[in-house]
Amino acid sequence: MVIKFWGTRGSIPVPGKDTIKYGGNTSCIQVITDNGENIILDCGTGIRSLGNYLVRTNHSFEKNLKIFISHTHWDHIQGLPFFLPFFQKYKIDIYINSKESMNLDEVLNAQMHEYFFPVNPDVFSANINFHKLDTSKKMTIDSVDIEMMDVNHSAGTISFKLSNERGSIIYMTDNEILYNAKDEEPTFNRIQELNGKLIDFCKGTDYLIHDSMYLYEDFKNRIGWGHSNNKSLSLFSILADVKNLIPFHYEPDYNDDILDKMVDQTKEYLQKENSKIYVMPSYESLEIVI
Ligand SMILES: [Zn+2]
Ligand SMILES: [Zn+2]
Repeated sequence: MVIKFWGTRGSIPVPGKDTIKYGGNTSCIQVITDNGENIILDCGTGIRSLGNYLVRTNHSFEKNLKIFISHTHWDHIQGLPFFLPFFQKYKIDIYINSKESMNLDEVLNAQMHEYFFPVNPDVFSANINFHKLDTSKKMTIDSVDIEMMDVNHSAGTISFKLSNERGSIIYMTDNEILYNAKDEEPTFNRIQELNGKLIDFCKGTDYLIHDSMYLYEDFKNRIGWGHSNNKSLSLFSILADVKNLIPFHYEPDYNDDILDKMVDQTKEYLQKENSKIYVMPSYESLEIVI
């Protein structure tokens, strides 16, 4: 499978000359299976360019597009009404955690209510079907197995693990790695104690895409906001024994220079623990092949 990044930013898009290297669009990742099926993870503003690309290249026109939504916070759905395949004869399946209290079609209807948008979903030509996810069950699309896990964020937020016979990648955006952040530095013991289930879920994965919203030094004012800092993420990654760490969902106020610093710091945190984990920061157009 090929994994391609179309949006790596958290909270709000931040286009401009200061965010060219890592990108300004909010969360969206495309996964293409070995037989050309498209799995899309989240619908931040990055999905607009992805949709244009799919239509322009006639990519998988005869096939379904399958969209998996980690949760319905604005930065993970705000690109949906601008997704060009909705306006074409595609068959699109949208999957959201069944714990979401909002009815699934309401997510789209609500963001296209006349208070917020000039037209409603009736303008779409695609055959759009909504599905509730049962996070306890494994799904298989083409040759890719998909497993899910609840994370430490607003209720109903989930992570996805995609694997085939060659390896695995985990998409864990919007997750706060827990420790006693008000009183102590992150430690292996505390992180293991408070995040054991998630560490088990990530154990030995080839690629971990994970929320790295804040530098450690900026985290003290953001405890409990549902996002992680790069120091706790480094320790978490060591405990989970991942091969490659992909920081993701960057704080919108961080320009490219600050993100360069974050990447360097993350490498230092890992080296200090003699870890061999490779840090591969996400940026728009990054591609990985498994
Ligand atoms: Zn987010
Ligand atoms: Zn969120």
